[in-house]
Amino acid sequence: METCINHPDKPAALVCTKYQQHYCETCAHCRDPKLYCKHRTACPIWFIAKDSENGWG
Ligand code: SF4
Repeated sequence: METCINHPDKPAALVCTKYQQHYCETCAHCRDPKLYCKHRTACPIWFIAKDSENGWG
């Protein structure tokens, strides 16, 4: 089971396909929101983040 990159005791809920980093729901974020990413159109992290208060996208 993959765990969150910031919380080794928590299971990962989402993965950044580009960088192969796993996050729990609390930590999920796109580390390069201004750079092109070929995975973006199918990335759940991106869709969660762009609708958040961060205002991405
Ligand atoms: S959009 Fe961001 S979080 Fe999603 S795969 Fe690309 S770099 Fe990772």
